[in-house]
Amino acid sequence: MGDPRGFLKVTERELAKRRPVDVRILDWKEVYERRDKGVVQQQASRCMDCGVPFCHQGCPLGNLIPEWNDLTWRDDNHSAIERLHQTNNFPEFTGRLCPAPCESSCVLAINQTAVTIKEIEVSIIDDAFDNNFVVPHQPERLTGKTVAVVGSGPAGLAAAQQLTRAGHTVAVYERDDRIGGLLRYGIPDFKMEKSHIDRRLAQMESEGTRFRSGVTIGVDVSWQDLKSRYDAVLIATGATRARDISMPGRELEGVHFAMDFLVPANKVVAGDEVAGQISAHGKRVVILGGGDTGADCLGTATRQGALSVTTLAIGAQPPSERRADQPWPTFPTLFEVASAHEEFGSRTYLASTVEFVGKDGKVTGVKVAETEFVDGKRLPKPGSEQIIEADLVLLALGFTGPEYDTLLPQAQIAFDSHGNIERDENWATNEAGVFVAGDAGRGQSLIVWAIAEGRSAAAAIDEFLEGTTELPAPVRTTDKPISVYS
Ligand SMILES: Cc1cc2nc3c(=O)[nH]c(=O)nc-3n(C[C@H](O)[C@H](O)[C@H](O)COP(=O)(O)OP(=O)(O)OC[C@H]3O[C@@H](n4cnc5c(N)ncnc54)[C@H](O)[C@@H]3O)c2cc1C
Ligand code: SF4
Repeated sequence: MGDPRGFLKVTERELAKRRPVDVRILDWKEVYERRDKGVVQQQASRCMDCGVPFCHQGCPLGNLIPEWNDLTWRDDNHSAIERLHQTNNFPEFTGRLCPAPCESSCVLAINQTAVTIKEIEVSIIDDAFDNNFVVPHQPERLTGKTVAVVGSGPAGLAAAQQLTRAGHTVAVYERDDRIGGLLRYGIPDFKMEKSHIDRRLAQMESEGTRFRSGVTIGVDVSWQDLKSRYDAVLIATGATRARDISMPGRELEGVHFAMDFLVPANKVVAGDEVAGQISAHGKRVVILGGGDTGADCLGTATRQGALSVTTLAIGAQPPSERRADQPWPTFPTLFEVASAHEEFGSRTYLASTVEFVGKDGKVTGVKVAETEFVDGKRLPKPGSEQIIEADLVLLALGFTGPEYDTLLPQAQIAFDSHGNIERDENWATNEAGVFVAGDAGRGQSLIVWAIAEGRSAAAAIDEFLEGTTELPAPVRTTDKPISVYS
């Protein structure tokens, strides 16, 4: 512990600044300015190095937070990144995108503000890349065993890196034209610029991981073929089946799923030309769903030049303080002002959509009523309806699970009662040698969970192939997420 009195001397939490709104909405670059190193060190000195560090329990990866806080305070970045990489393959992703459940369980947060753990994490990895501390770790020997990883999101990438370093020959198959999963085409650049993915992929390629983009398993290569070609297969295909809404007017032109809007937007930012792109430019936009995907749609619509954006949430506005039934150290549901909310648009709570209205086959508005609670059910209050004018309606209502069109007929993979791919305590599906990790087995969740599951599934696969493993397994299949992405 660097400064035993640090938390008494530095009592205020100081976060990186967001760029001014009127500047940042003119581009797609990250919203946050680079963290000032002196401030990060001061903030790291607030860590109390608790005897029982509850932040470990909050972080699914079991990141060694007090250790790298101390090393950051001492300005020993080389040791800090070594310690951080011991538990997290990709701190540049979590340091930018994680909702930081660790901070909700920081002991300092009982009667002060939490240590800025997530910012310290991203500062360590950004400095490490700047100083060329992130180098390839080639395996000491090759096992001669082969593994196919299907899906290149954070779960697939984490598993691939662990298995490659353990000496297996690993190929990652991805149906998209670029590697990265939702990191690449779900999450907008203003939250994380894609150069962070590319430089990590360069490290992985140097270590020996092979990437095959533009290949859909189940179409270009059958699941059976894949299974017969490799000693083990990991399914890390995510859970991007969008939740739909059934109501009059759903078929109108201009009503789209959030991902049909976000994916092309990300491609255009990457420099691609996308024919028939759904754009918010010059439109009145209504977003159904007050969660984080809705916020990503809002920030994207703002930058595309929407005339107006209204976000509708069926539930009540969450509180700004912890509720009594969500005490420390749990991860509470709180009212959040994401960067996108700060920029543009309005948010309406207790809004139940009852109909999409339109003219000549095109949407012109959304009929909305107040939500009332009857016998615990959320229902539209009769007589309270009003119409919000709209040219573009985006459905950001969450996700129902992984896709199964080819998995079921070709591989007879079993699904659980929640619609996710079933796995046992060893991350194994009902098919011998086929494993599952990330959202495909858990349902839409968080990047930190995907990485933790990828690491754990890699350990299980290594043991399956070699009879023993030294790879770490931070989570079990039965562990419950403390937060999901909506
Ligand atoms: C819009 C949006 C924003 C989000 N923002 C955040 C955030 O800020 N912070 C956070 O913690 N979480 C966020 N999440 C959640 C997070 O992105 C996911 O939990 C995480 O990416 C899951 O990782 P994964 O590896 O399991 O799957 P994914 O990232 O979904 O990757 C699965 C990959 O498999 C590929 N694939 C599927 N089927 C096949 C096939 N048959 N053959 C070949 N490839 C296939 C897909 O194309 C995809 O690239 C967000 C989610 C969305 C939708
Ligand atoms: S990965 Fe998330 S939970 Fe873990 S230390 Fe980083 S910000 Fe906290």
